[in-house]
Amino acid sequence: MIREKITAAIGKQVGAWDVVIIGGGATGVGCAVDAATRGFSVLLLEQQDFGKGTSSRSTKLVHGGVRYLRKGDIPLVREALRERGVLRKNAPDLVSEQPFLIPCYGVLDKLFYGIGMKIYDWLSGRYAFTRSRIVSRREALEIAPMVVTEGLSGGVIYYDGRFDDTRLLVGLVQTAASHGAVLLNYARVTGITKDAAGRAKGVSFIDTESGTELAVSARSVINATGVFTDPVRKMTSHAAKPILKFAQGVHIVVDGRFLGSQTSIMIPKTSDGRVLFCIPWHGNTLIGTTDTQVESAELEPRALASEIEFLIENASRYLSIGPTIDDVLSVFAGIRPLIANAGNEKTSSISRSHDIFVDAAGLVTVTGGKWTTYRRMAEDAVDKAIMVGGLDELRCVTNNVQILNDVRPNGGRRLHPDLVHTEEDVVRAVRTEMARTVEDVLARRTRALFINARAAMEMAPTVAGIIATELEFDDEWVRRQIDEFSKLARGYLVRSDDVPRSDAD
Ligand SMILES: Cc1cc2nc3c(=O)[nH]c(=O)nc-3n(C[C@H](O)[C@H](O)[C@H](O)COP(=O)(O)OP(=O)(O)OC[C@H]3O[C@@H](n4cnc5c(N)ncnc54)[C@H](O)[C@@H]3O)c2cc1C
Repeated sequence: MIREKITAAIGKQVGAWDVVIIGGGATGVGCAVDAATRGFSVLLLEQQDFGKGTSSRSTKLVHGGVRYLRKGDIPLVREALRERGVLRKNAPDLVSEQPFLIPCYGVLDKLFYGIGMKIYDWLSGRYAFTRSRIVSRREALEIAPMVVTEGLSGGVIYYDGRFDDTRLLVGLVQTAASHGAVLLNYARVTGITKDAAGRAKGVSFIDTESGTELAVSARSVINATGVFTDPVRKMTSHAAKPILKFAQGVHIVVDGRFLGSQTSIMIPKTSDGRVLFCIPWHGNTLIGTTDTQVESAELEPRALASEIEFLIENASRYLSIGPTIDDVLSVFAGIRPLIANAGNEKTSSISRSHDIFVDAAGLVTVTGGKWTTYRRMAEDAVDKAIMVGGLDELRCVTNNVQILNDVRPNGGRRLHPDLVHTEEDVVRAVRTEMARTVEDVLARRTRALFINARAAMEMAPTVAGIIATELEFDDEWVRRQIDEFSKLARGYLVRSDDVPRSDAD
């Protein structure tokens, strides 16, 4: 997957591409896998790096959504539980079963969550994971010794899926490419071209590395741009009404000792009535998330101080040693693309289901949804693209497509004493995973920036040097990369240079 070869392949395409996809997150790359495995010619264009948007900032759960069960959104839970099973079958190296403890502080709680999780088990049908069970106080403490003991009556253990979002994305990119799709990062779509009848017939884009402007023609165009859906819809019609609302979600990463277990904790009711997860992640503990309505979409959203406080406060009510702000190793924010209903519904109440929109020009937009349901979203979008573009009616096969990924640990010298990543990881990221920058390597091929931002900053010069050698970039590139990465990484520190951030940042 060398970028130069791929760019050359774009020029070699004779005639129109069957499907051009805009956006290289879970949804877009899922569409690329779907369309390529049906036998279509596919080009995917991502404005920055694969997973730069929301798809690198999830809670890392392949799940039906216990929260949606409580809200009674049974069709969504059932669909997501099915997709959870399909994904584990097709990507067994990347998706694993994860036990969760719901700590209970009263007999009624135990009964309520015990019955709830039995319904969850039952809804998963033939794609079931290990069944849930009610556990005693003693067993709950054996499983999760750091949970607050006062008033603890026991708990409920249930199972869901766990994954590393960007590692799965890299696997999906490689899978799509292995089936003939061409996927290009650092390629920003700037316009959608139309024929005389006003139908979308291609896209124009900029290769942002070289500044070269290019245009390709397509029989169908899919808009899978997550929170940037509305600006892309405006490329075919200035009058297009916005269809999305945005909700920011923040996670913090603290040392693994705060959870002290390989079992996650699901906090069933936070102070704002949501659920909160404490999950073992790369040796640390991932705590999230929040739901804050925001007005605009950004590629690099920033956590509010109030969101960080909320996470610390709510986790500390359930963990016997609660983390403090000084314990936060990294903080990251993501924005959910939510399909807005009429009225002023709170973002936390908006359904996480997906939808497909086709406008007068025939642009197919797929949005909403969850990482877990990306395969189903892609199937629906490509079905629609076939109809709109008059393509051969080839059937979706992704229920049974194995997702590739090289999960073998690399050898070589470690880049930092606190993290497992090695020099060979960087080389592999550049040679086989299309990483182009220090950020690509440290944020999305390894997860260093998300696991421990300060360590990632310290690794940056070595990483820049290795990339420059691989791609024959000069010293000026190295200097700029270190500088740009340091600026970015400061946003993942709770206290940059010990200056506490404020909501007004
Ligand atoms: C805090 C949080 C936690 C979550 N946790 C979970 C979870 O645990 N499990 C789960 O199943 N789901 C979870 N989700 C939901 C899930 O992460 C999202 O539904 C999913 O990642 C959306 O993917 P996407 O591809 O639609 O959007 P994105 O990942 O944002 O991808 C869109 C891409 O389009 C690109 N783009 C935009 N404009 C252009 C252009 N003009 N040209 C080219 N490219 C363009 C962007 O750069 C971006 O990379 C979570 C979401 C959030 C915010």
